[in-house]
Amino acid sequence: MDVTTARERLEDMLAELDRSIAVLQGDPVAVREHHAADAGSDLTDADRARAMLTVAGTQRAAVVQALKRLEEGVYGRCVDCARPVPEGRLEARPEAARCVECQGKRERRR
Ligand SMILES: [Zn+2]
Repeated sequence: MDVTTARERLEDMLAELDRSIAVLQGDPVAVREHHAADAGSDLTDADRARAMLTVAGTQRAAVVQALKRLEEGVYGRCVDCARPVPEGRLEARPEAARCVECQGKRERRR
């Protein structure tokens, strides 16, 4: 994936995440209506909104970091081992910071 395409995709993702975060933070009614269909679960609306905000916030941070790596000319390299991240992985997740191997190690550590 070339740098221009990567930047476009990352900027789209960032805009989308910012919209989601704004909705989650600013309009609890919208969140409640959005989830009215699956009422009856244990989670309260506030818990749901918080969980979604955490996910969106984490992903947003990853996208911002990826854009920073683009600026620095190191995009597409694993931040841990500096080997190139496979093209297919970047296609699926343009914000990926690590190759599959390093990501796997990191997730096992948690
Ligand atoms: Zn790696």
